[in-house]
Formats: sequence, structure tokens, C-alpha cells
Amino acid sequence: MTTPFWPRPPERYPGRLPDRADVLVIGGGITGVSLLHHLGKQGIDAVLVERNHLASGASGRNAGFLLAGVADCYAEAVRIFGRSRARDIWHMTMENHVEEIEAVKGQEIGHRRLGSITLASGEKEALQLAESAQLLSEDGFDCDWDGRRLTNPSDGEVTPSLLVGAFARQAARGSVREGVEVTAIEPGGGDVLVRADDAECRAGCVILATNAYTPQLLPQVPITPRRAQMLASEPERATLCEQPTYSNFGYRYWRQMPTGEVLVGGWRDAAYETEVGYDERPTAAIQAHLEAHLRHLGADGEVTHRWAGTMGFTESGLPLVGPVDGMANVYLCAGYNGHGMGFAFMSAKQLVAAL
Ligand SMILES: Cc1cc2nc3c(=O)[nH]c(=O)nc-3n(C[C@H](O)[C@H](O)[C@H](O)COP(=O)(O)OP(=O)(O)OC[C@H]3O[C@@H](n4cnc5c(N)ncnc54)[C@H](O)[C@@H]3O)c2cc1C
Repeated sequence: MTTPFWPRPPERYPGRLPDRADVLVIGGGITGVSLLHHLGKQGIDAVLVERNHLASGASGRNAGFLLAGVADCYAEAVRIFGRSRARDIWHMTMENHVEEIEAVKGQEIGHRRLGSITLASGEKEALQLAESAQLLSEDGFDCDWDGRRLTNPSDGEVTPSLLVGAFARQAARGSVREGVEVTAIEPGGGDVLVRADDAECRAGCVILATNAYTPQLLPQVPITPRRAQMLASEPERATLCEQPTYSNFGYRYWRQMPTGEVLVGGWRDAAYETEVGYDERPTAAIQAHLEAHLRHLGADGEVTHRWAGTMGFTESGLPLVGPVDGMANVYLCAGYNGHGMGFAFMSAKQLVAAL
């Protein structure tokens, strides 16, 4: 019951820490495999190590929404980041959607682009969404506001674990290695010295694609781990939800698979104090909220899966992409504030370009 609804990527990549690597990527989620993709395109030799299996972190535990922007609506994002920065973020995430899907063209990743709905939970959210619709239209983004629902027609959804698996399948032979847990990263006479159990690797450069888990390796990195929970039901015959739906200021979300299963997630705002840290076990309190919403949507089948995952939050609300302070040749691509499927591919592209 505590395993995610999504299938584990089918291939296995057992391996060990290499003795040497031009670039060592740590973490086998959407960020790690996106980095491998962009590094490969530049002809750079890279090895990715993952302590469990690919997509065992948040990338195999999320809702699979590919949304434009950050968790806040456009009007809020404009207040926080300023108009032109908010516009750039929306453009970047829309490019992320298109380029990420294009990069694995021909592989089965459960991609659908039917748009998304942001549903106003009350008067306050309705006012913000109405303002967002106005600003989005002025800035050239397609959207529709009907007084309760903001529709973003270019959003979509994927099967997140299959997306990660698709990138790994395209990577150079031997470049993905599962079951390797990095325990230390140290300077090593011009190189970076990386340790895993009793093995050692001299890497020209190391990129941490460890999102929420980054402070477990480098406690100085300001990323906060926060738990998010989901459940999935048996297939329902009726259509209960046509598009990925987001509500309550991004705290609640649900979707229905083409095969009928209904997935509900979120409700972290119902218990902020418990939904922190690295414990990936679902709790009865949040699951009760998710199940109540499942019934509210009209689903009456059994709950087949309940699970949780860990998201990485940053102070600015935007990812940390670049060098790690005080550590030569060590870089970070992490901290997506619950929106990594919409950010990671382009963040990885930016980092590789900067390298
Ligand atoms: C319930 C839930 C719902 C979400 N819904 C959405 C959504 O609908 N849309 C969206 O855009 N985002 C969503 N997110 C957020 C999204 O899942 C993440 O932002 C994204 O998956 C981050 O990807 P990543 O590759 O950076 O990190 P992860 O997928 O967490 O991967 C990091 C990997 O690093 C590995 N690792 C860590 N430490 C080490 C080490 N020392 N040695 C080796 N390997 C190590 C871990 O095992 C892990 O596999 C959701 C998250 C959750 C939990």
C-alpha cells in the first residue's frame, strides 16, 4: 500500500562507483536523467549514480502534472518575482514541457496534453485567478476563466516514472548505475573526490541532482524537505475529472487516468507541522482528507495505493542551479518547490550550458 501507483522503470542498471569520471551526476530522478541527456548532447562523458533505483525519489512518486509556472498562480508570481521575471518563468516551464517530451519522442510515457484546470476554492482564490487570467492574456498566454475555473490549455500530464525510464534508455551504455549511495564529497587535488561505501571516484566535476535529499550530503545547502502524500483508486467507469486539476492555492490536486483510476494528492496545508522531513510513510490524517475528496469526486471503488514522497523547497521559491558555494567543481540542480517535472529539464539544460 505504501508503494506508488506508478510502475518502476522496467530496466535495471546495477553498477558500481567508477574510479574516474569527467562528470559524476548524483541522483536518478528527472533531474539526473535530464542532465545525462544534455551532457550527452554536448559530447561530455558522464556517469549517473543512484542509491536505490531510478525514479525511487520524488520523480516516481508525484502526480505527473506538467504545469506552466510555479505553485503560486500568475498574479501571485507577478507580486513575488515581478512581471517580467514571472513571464520568463512561465515561458521557461512551457518550453520545458515541449522540449522534455520531444527529447523522448516515440517512447511510451503516458503523455497527454489536454490542458489543466485551477479551481477556485473560495472568493479569495477566485479573485487571484481572475487577476491571473487578465495578466496571462495581456502577456500573451492562452487561458480561459469562467468565474470558477482557470483553464490552461497548454498544460499536460505524464507517467513520471516512465519519463525517467525513457531518458535512461537513451543514455550511453554504462552511464547509469543503480544501487550506489554516495556518502561523501571532498576536494581532491583539483578533482572532486567522491566516496560510496569502500569505493572512491575522482571526478572532474560533480552535479548533485538529489533535490530534497541534498542536505543529507551537504547540510549547508538551503533546501528544506517537505512530505507530500497521494492515493489512487480502482478504475472508475465514469469520467470524474477530465483534466489535471489544481486547487486551494496549489495544495490540492487530482487527475483521472485514461484507464479510469483516480489519483488525489496534497492537503499538506491541513498539517504543516507533520509534513516535513524525510519520512516517506503516508499518515492517517492526510490520507483521510485525500479519501474524503476521492468520494466527493464520486469515486466509490477501493483505494489501491497510498504513498508519500519528499519535495525540496527553497527560500526564493525557485530552483538552485549553479555552483555550490565553497566547493570547487561541485554543482547543484535542485529545489523545485513541488514542480520539478515542470522545471528540471530546462534547469538541467541551463546548468550544462553554463558548465
Ligand atoms: C506527492 C508528490 C506530488 C508531486 N506532484 C508533482 C507534479 O504533479 N508535477 C511536478 O512538476 N512536480 C511534482 N512533484 C515534485 C516533483 O516530483 C519533484 O520536484 C521532482 O521529481 C524532483 O526530481 P529530482 O530528480 O530533482 O529529485 P528526485 O526525484 O527526488 O531524485 C533524487 C534522487 O537522488 C537519489 N539520491 C539522494 N541521495 C543520494 C546519494 N547520496 N547517493 C545516490 N543517490 C542519491 C534519490 O534516491 C533520488 O532517486 C511532486 C512531488 C511529490 C512528492
